[in-house]
Amino acid sequence: MSQLPLQSAELFHQNCYVGGEWVAATSGAKLEVDNPASGEIIGNIPDFDASDTQHAIAAAAEGFQQWRRTSATTRSDHLYRWYQLMLDHSDDLATLMTLEQGKPLAEAKGEVLYAASFLRWFAEEARRAYGDTIPGSTPDQHIIVTRQPVGVSAAITPWNFPAAMITRKAGAALAAGCSMVVKPAEATPYTALALAHLSQQAGIPAGVFNVITGNPVIIGQTLTSSPTVRKLSFTGSTAVGRKLMAQCAEHIQKVSLELGGNAPFIVFDDADLDQAVAGAMASKFRNTGQTCVCANRFLVQDGVHDAFVSKLADAMSKLQLGDGFAEGTTQSALINRAAVEKVQQHYSNAIQQGATRVFGPEPHDAQGNFVAPVLLTGINPDMQICQEETFGPLAGIIRFDNEAQAIQLANDTPYGLAAYFYSQNIHRVWRVADALEYGMVGINEGIISNPSAPFGGVKESGLGREGAREGMAEYEESKYLCMGGA
Ligand code: ADP
Repeated sequence: MSQLPLQSAELFHQNCYVGGEWVAATSGAKLEVDNPASGEIIGNIPDFDASDTQHAIAAAAEGFQQWRRTSATTRSDHLYRWYQLMLDHSDDLATLMTLEQGKPLAEAKGEVLYAASFLRWFAEEARRAYGDTIPGSTPDQHIIVTRQPVGVSAAITPWNFPAAMITRKAGAALAAGCSMVVKPAEATPYTALALAHLSQQAGIPAGVFNVITGNPVIIGQTLTSSPTVRKLSFTGSTAVGRKLMAQCAEHIQKVSLELGGNAPFIVFDDADLDQAVAGAMASKFRNTGQTCVCANRFLVQDGVHDAFVSKLADAMSKLQLGDGFAEGTTQSALINRAAVEKVQQHYSNAIQQGATRVFGPEPHDAQGNFVAPVLLTGINPDMQICQEETFGPLAGIIRFDNEAQAIQLANDTPYGLAAYFYSQNIHRVWRVADALEYGMVGINEGIISNPSAPFGGVKESGLGREGAREGMAEYEESKYLCMGGA
């Protein structure tokens, strides 16, 4: 693409950012990046090999030596400047994001603000890396606990939130005093590289924040086989997270994993149905169904089943499928052909097993990567749509009879990221909130992401938390000082 519609053209980088320099792969190899809505090639990115990746790790090691010695206030000030620059360039960042990821421009702008909010949160949190003093076991002993940065950290991030999944990790890492090498998804490198540009503008020293692109397997292996890298934070599929966790065993690297989900969205007979429908729409159709906390299984109690289905279908009829840049678009292209085929497969599997399509066209009629929203009823827990994340605008309703059954169905999965439920009964609210085996529960609320709350899952949905105080702790080690003879 020759001319990008940016106010600040310098935000568009086709080289990696390593040690404060913009660099190509040593071999000269490149990968193409396309626009998922049009298929048009936006540009190229370097295809880093193992030695390029090692060079980035060495740069991060140098950056770390400088950064760890800065004061918490200095780190806070840098993060705050980076945050301000994201706001100043929010239109351009959103444009780049819609170009490479496809999401509606209004959602891209929303993501930029959400992503920036992590830099702000961690700018504030940087100054609160408090330790502890603990009474000693003898009168002459003092026990002091300080927090130290883990060291060089690495992040591997997905394409669905090209900015927020980076700032949520990098904000925490840099606040704690760590340096970081980020490998964004191949589909969405330009948002990441624009963030690197702004980090440079914010005065963050060379080597502290690095962005590299290329073959994920080679880069992942190099990052996890390096004894210099002390921490890996990964957001993506459970299959890849499992592999990376095994790879991290070699040097006992600290790991944080934010993996797949299979979110239940439960509507009880005593729910406020309009509120439930609004939450369902936000949870299911944000990012055209491509979020790890998307409602994946709607469980609706007998007494409100038909009314909920009819109200949900009505709300879905107001969604507008189109190019992410077109005015009024709420649903846009899925990330690639494989994503379209997954929705089609889940649809066919459900129909073959007796589900009914009550709203929307056949997903097999999709044009390009554009899949229109579809609503199915008569879903049962054995269907693929309930077993795997659909990651697209296909919603299926399971009907249930009582609370115990809903909880059993909701927990009947190896995943445990987000769950949602709607009820106006305070006793039920506490009972169900307690019983759900999930890291995050939306109660009468469909959007739960928030920089000040701990984001993360249990079971096969991951390890560790991002955002909140816990997010920074992932990049810290406690150091216990025992002072005797006082
Ligand atoms: P998705 O299916 O949503 O693309 P992935 O888990 O495949 O999720 O991708 C998430 C991130 O993990 C991306 O940055 C991708 O490049 C990276 N990735 C994929 N496979 C590997 C791997 N074997 N090792 C390291 N990173 C990987």
